[in-house]
Amino acid sequence: MSLSLLELQQLLGVLQSLDVGLVVLDRHYRVSFWNDFMANHSGLAPQEVLGQELFGLCPELPRDWIKPKIDTALALGTISFTTWEQRPHPFPFSSYRPLTGRSKAMYQNLTFMPIAGASGEVDKVALVVYDVTEAANSRLALIDANQQLSVLSRTDPLTGLLNRRSWESGLEEEFARCRRSGRTSTLLMFDIDYFKQVNDTHGHQAGDLVLQHTATLLTSQLRTTDKAGRYGGEEFALLLVDTDADQARLLADRLCSSLAATPAKVGGQVIPITISAGIAQATEAMANAHAWVKAADQALYQAKEAGRNTICLAD
Ligand code: GH3
Ligand code: MG
Ligand code: MG
Repeated sequence: MSLSLLELQQLLGVLQSLDVGLVVLDRHYRVSFWNDFMANHSGLAPQEVLGQELFGLCPELPRDWIKPKIDTALALGTISFTTWEQRPHPFPFSSYRPLTGRSKAMYQNLTFMPIAGASGEVDKVALVVYDVTEAANSRLALIDANQQLSVLSRTDPLTGLLNRRSWESGLEEEFARCRRSGRTSTLLMFDIDYFKQVNDTHGHQAGDLVLQHTATLLTSQLRTTDKAGRYGGEEFALLLVDTDADQARLLADRLCSSLAATPAKVGGQVIPITISAGIAQATEAMANAHAWVKAADQALYQAKEAGRNTICLAD
């Protein structure tokens, strides 16, 4: 098939004005075609770039990443693709957003197409640049929303601590880890004393603020590896990794002292509270994570029985 000169010119005109970037490179990465899309986004006119080496023209291009793809197309004659997930912005272009009127860094997918010369041998590569900013931004927004949703689904809305379900799943993982590696971890469960009276005297909203205050004091005492959850209404559960029962007791003491030193204040009124705590270190004798919680819960029950404002260690 042979094309007339006119047909060839028409075809070139189409390629020139395509709404995707089109660059043709020779074996030495020199530009032999540069369409309007490339000119508009790079600010480099075709006459400035023709015959020039691509990486010299666009020093920001990730040369070590792009060059092998061009080389593969030349050597093997195979087409290859890259997506914005691998490299979001290979060319440092911006994309105009008609909706917001703002421009943002352009996300790009690239295609590397071998082009055979008259002899049938591949001697050029067409690099096609697709602006996928719209799709990438939607995808990123979705990932963001999913992450927020996942945080929300794991968190207790009142205190910001882990909710019970999420705390329990962390507990099972830690129990298994203790079994495997023999490391020492300890559970601390505590419950606010006579909390019903706080609600009855000051109102439910004041009760909520006391719960938030307790959670804030608690969080300030913890290490990043500790996991704090709201186990029930006014009951809290702490998973303390690499911590033995004696160290957990020190933490419980500190928590009691800081609650005494910094009581919640609601509407100018001081609401003093105390807590009772039960502590259980994971032991070989425990069949599962459930048994671990049970041991801490029993110790907490003993603390209540002993008159409250008390810390008990499991037997
Ligand atoms: P004890 O010393 O035996 O623990 O006595 P207590 O009064 O703390 O225990 P009880 O279980 O009798 O009462 C707990 C109260 O906690 C009852 C419930 O209304 C209240 N409560 C549970 N969840 C919330 C909450 O989210 N906000 C508020 N304000 N109160 C709550
Ligand atoms: Mg209570
Ligand atoms: Mg309770």
